[in-house]
Amino acid sequence: GIEITDLHKHYGNLAILNGVNLRIEDGEFVTLIGPSGCGKSTLLKIIAGLEAASSGSIRIASRVVNNVPPQQRDLAMVFQNYALYPQMTIRQNLAFGMKVKGFTKPEIERRITEVANTLGLGALLDRRPRQLSGGQRQRVAMGRAMVREPQAFLLDEPLSNLDAALRTVMRSEIKTLHQRLGRTMVYVTHDQVEAMTMADRIAIMQNGKIVQYGAPDDLYSRPRNQFVATFFGTPQ
Ligand code: ATP
Ligand code: MG
Repeated sequence: GIEITDLHKHYGNLAILNGVNLRIEDGEFVTLIGPSGCGKSTLLKIIAGLEAASSGSIRIASRVVNNVPPQQRDLAMVFQNYALYPQMTIRQNLAFGMKVKGFTKPEIERRITEVANTLGLGALLDRRPRQLSGGQRQRVAMGRAMVREPQAFLLDEPLSNLDAALRTVMRSEIKTLHQRLGRTMVYVTHDQVEAMTMADRIAIMQNGKIVQYGAPDDLYSRPRNQFVATFFGTPQ
């Protein structure tokens, strides 16, 4: 699992995370939801090792990883802005992380074909990112995480650029992937419905803290404070 204890992050005088505590069990699907600017992306980046914590600890599989470089954490992160390598083809983008992980060439080919078919990217493999639409790029970013089969996925609004129909397809695709692989997933979203329907547990974040963490039913029927109640009671 992933265990975060009393995590703080500040940029200069600006406090972003103010003592985050969160314990995610192996194989769990956790959605992280909260208003813009509350620190969701920062938290994910610190778990991934792309940002350093100011204080507090991050444990993955019981091991403190604060000083472990990102590529040794065996996590895959999909960013809000789906950063792809612009000079590489889609195929090369997908293969990149697998080479690092030591997959053989035939395995890489097989996984890419499989994931490209799942995500409807089969015809786009020899293009470069700039020749793709926003939604197609987002699916490549998702595919890049999927091919590596990491022990956990950190997904930062991975569907934000897709139209409603594709979003629905991708949501169930991600849930299927979760059931098939049984890997931990931490999924940031702004969408209450997405948060409620996809998660085993939901973490609600406000001002750099987790204000409530529990099963969807629990949060819905027993909100801890007005913020949580309003969050789930008000349509976006
Ligand atoms: P959104 O839902 O809009 O994506 P978020 O919850 O992901 O928001 P973060 O990206 O974690 O929010 O940012 C939290 C706060 O930290 C914001 O106020 C942001 O401006 C600030 N911040 C993020 N990165 C930096 C940085 N490198 N330097 C200074 N401030 C930063
Ligand atoms: Mg964000």
